[in-house]
Amino acid sequence: MKTVGFRSVVLYILLAVFLGGLGYLVVNLFFHGRQWAMQPYNGHLSAQMGDIKDRNGNVLATSQDGERFYSDDETVRRALLHTIGDTAGYIGTGVQSVMGDKLTGYNLITGLNRTPFTSLSSKLELTVDQAACAAAYNAMAGRSGAAILYDYETGDILCKVSAPTFDPAFVPEDIETNDAYKGAYVDNTLSSSFTPGSIFKVVTAAAAMDLWPDSWSTRTYECWGSEEIGGSNITCLHGESHGNQDMFAALGNSCNIYFAKLAGDMGGEALQRKAEEMGFNVNLDFHGVTVAKSSLDLSAANANELGWAAVGQYTVLTNPYHMMVLMGAVAKGGTYTQPRLTERGDFFSGVGTPGRLMGPETAQQLKSLLRSDVENYYGDWMFPQGMNVCAKTGTGEVGEGKAPNCWMVGFCDSAQYPYAFAVVVEEGEGGIETAGSLVSAMLQALA
Ligand SMILES: [Zn+2]
Repeated sequence: MKTVGFRSVVLYILLAVFLGGLGYLVVNLFFHGRQWAMQPYNGHLSAQMGDIKDRNGNVLATSQDGERFYSDDETVRRALLHTIGDTAGYIGTGVQSVMGDKLTGYNLITGLNRTPFTSLSSKLELTVDQAACAAAYNAMAGRSGAAILYDYETGDILCKVSAPTFDPAFVPEDIETNDAYKGAYVDNTLSSSFTPGSIFKVVTAAAAMDLWPDSWSTRTYECWGSEEIGGSNITCLHGESHGNQDMFAALGNSCNIYFAKLAGDMGGEALQRKAEEMGFNVNLDFHGVTVAKSSLDLSAANANELGWAAVGQYTVLTNPYHMMVLMGAVAKGGTYTQPRLTERGDFFSGVGTPGRLMGPETAQQLKSLLRSDVENYYGDWMFPQGMNVCAKTGTGEVGEGKAPNCWMVGFCDSAQYPYAFAVVVEEGEGGIETAGSLVSAMLQALA
């Protein structure tokens, strides 16, 4: 009896260990199976992935005889590299990495074995428009940057381009050593933040609207090109004097002194609070991909630094995806539609939580200011007829003898063209010249 009892105990222990181990494996398979199967070193997997098409049915990627092929058009291949991803899987935010399981038909039960059911889900139709992406890429003219545009009603991302880029069909041999490809695996639309310059005046203006409801139409300041604030000078571009201006004229002229004085009067705390309400210092989530933060930290800023922060210098950084949804929120009365890359119930799709970034009055007032910018300063002639573009440009000074970051952010106040966008080009000529012409090219392709 004694021996049998001992054997039973041993058996029970072994059984418990076995079941524990099995449970551990199942739990891990459930939570990590997808990642295990999709490791970049399983390089052959991308060659089994299904077709990826754009919204008009153009093939962006396909597999044949164990090889992965991309669009026939080199410009399209380069323009959409970061959205689709590369064959080796280095671009972690691309569709082929994030949705690799869908594309290969990976399934928790059957693994990577094709079944009549899993092969059904191995194709993807993206919301992007390849012509708009190619137009944006061409307008970058070989410079680095990001261009992203979406339909603020449906959430469809129509254009998403990052540079530097490379041709996924002919991966350059010197990609790891040539400086021209530095950062080529990074999607600048999602994973980078840049010095914004004057596009940040939109945030400063919104903060003032909260404190003084009539400020957007009544508050004036004088500008004589340069003024001492907090011990050193704040200057306007080329030392230009803008005279006595209200907010409409100050935003149109992109007057630094107006917005520096405005921030001085409201104080750093009010600007910090409003910026955070509008999505600064927050990692936005793009269906599981963590977006790089836009950041503002005024905790150690003196009066002069607060003035420069108010015009998007100092240590302020902005992310293109965030700027796009911020503009989408202005267009939609303060709450933005969650962007998506596919229409079906996949990782990059679905309804998502709409984000409230400001109240409806602030959105309406910002819309008036941004519309005035294009109507009275940049010129509607820049854009396709009837798009009713509302926008703000910026030139973020980055120092080190480099030319500025050239930005344009905005949206079309139009039921026919409900597009919001953010564009940044590094080392460009100017906001309107460089970023404005890129936005124009993108909108022409969608007109
Ligand atoms: Zn000025």
